[in-house]
Order: sequence, then C-alpha cells, then structure tokens
Amino acid sequence: MDVALVTVGDEILSGETTNTNAAWLGQRLRDSGVSVERMTVVPDRVADIARVVNEYQAEYDAVIVTGGLGPTPDDVTMEGVAAAYGTELEADEAVGEWLESEKGYENDDLAPETTHIPERAAMLKNPEGVAPGCVIDNTYVLPGVPAEMRGMFEQVAEEFSGDPWYVETVETPEPESHLLERITEVQKQFDVTVGSYPGENVRLRIEGTDVEIVDAAASWLREQVESPQA
Ligand code: ATP
Ligand code: MG
Repeated sequence: MDVALVTVGDEILSGETTNTNAAWLGQRLRDSGVSVERMTVVPDRVADIARVVNEYQAEYDAVIVTGGLGPTPDDVTMEGVAAAYGTELEADEAVGEWLESEKGYENDDLAPETTHIPERAAMLKNPEGVAPGCVIDNTYVLPGVPAEMRGMFEQVAEEFSGDPWYVETVETPEPESHLLERITEVQKQFDVTVGSYPGENVRLRIEGTDVEIVDAAASWLREQVESPQA
C-alpha cells in the first residue's frame, strides 16, 4: 500500500512548528508495512490544499492530511479537501450528535462551521478534542494537535496495511565512498534495499520483505566489510 502525507500549516513552513506529525505517521505506517511515498507541506490556503490532495488521491492508495481543522478562519483544510473532490462543505448531523452526546455541547451553542465536513465524507471522532476529522474516498483528514492526530489515526489504523518490512543493520568504520561496490553487489545478489548513513561508523540499513533474505544479505555484508572496533 502506497500512501502520501499532506501536512497543512503556515507555521510548519515558517519553521515555528516542527513537523512531528509527519515523522510519527511515517514511522507508524512503515511499521504496518505501508510505504510512505510523499510528505508534502502546504500553507493554510484552499487552492494549494485542493491541488495537492486532488493529485495525490489519484496517484496513491490513500492520502492522510493533517492540520488546520479548527473553527477559526485560518483553518481551511476541510474547505481545501472539499474543493479537491469538487464538493462543498455541509453541516453533518453525525458531527452535531457526537458533539452533543460525547462532548457536552448544546447544538444551539455551536458555531455552525463546527459541524461542517465535505459532502459525501464520513466523520471521524476526535477522542482528544472537539474538531472532527473525516474520510472521503481514500483521503483521511486528521487534526494538527499531535495527541488528537494520533488518537484519530488509531481509529482507522487497521485500514493501513502492507507486507511487513524487516530491517537489519550492519556497521563499519570504513568510509562510505569505499563501500559503494559492495552496497551495489548486495542489492544485486539479494532482494533488499540498502541505505547508508554515515556517522562515527557508517550504518548500512538493509530492508526487505523476506526475513530470511534480509538476514542472508546482512550476513554476507558483515563478512565483506571491516567490523567496528569493540
Ligand atoms: P485546532 O482545532 O486546535 O486549531 P487544528 O487541527 O486546526 O487544531 P492546527 O491549527 O493546524 O490544528 O495546529 C494546532 C497546533 O498543533 C499547532 O499550533 C501546533 O502546535 C500543533 N501542530 C500542528 N501541525 C503539526 C505538525 N504537523 N506537527 C507537530 N505539531 C503540529
Ligand atoms: Mg487550528
């Protein structure tokens, strides 16, 4: 399963807020065997959100959008997602009922926008807050507040799955530039991908979907490189 993540928020682009939501989702999805193919940050602007969501919903199995769900005028994510699907926002009865029964709001107290989600969308409850999320086709819209985002994602987590990935790591003090041929060779001999991460030692990260092949590739590589000093 291939997924694209869209983070919405001017404060992410300005560097005021670090995009921990995308990092968390990236890891969480990877652990479920899902391949994250894009992480894109867009400003709080309807046309930009709509353009990216429209492109990605056609290209990937699912799109996860986070941020900009609140009722304030700078939160325009729902409008952007509605536009991506050529629909409008509308008051959703299920949202109103949820806010009354589980969050203790009187319907009359609620600003009308509070219950608006795109036509055709199904709402997602927010276990930690009052801004609902939604699912429309293969697009999942989640809040920006990290605890709310995580809580809502867990409600739909089962819909995200794929072949589990296995990872083995091999470390070596040899410089990265010396390792290129052996990295190419291990990928040729075994059905794995190898990432190389320099640090005090170079860390070679071997990934694949077959645990035995990943193990065999790691053993082969360990024999071919100098070991770190104990
Ligand atoms: P609210 O209803 O509180 O307005 P929201 O869904 O509209 O929630 P945002 O307004 O986008 O969310 O963000 C609220 C706060 O959540 C931000 O000020 C920031 O602290 C945090 N936040 C938003 N997006 C991210 C992100 N991608 N990574 C980490 N934190 C984030
Ligand atoms: Mg907000």
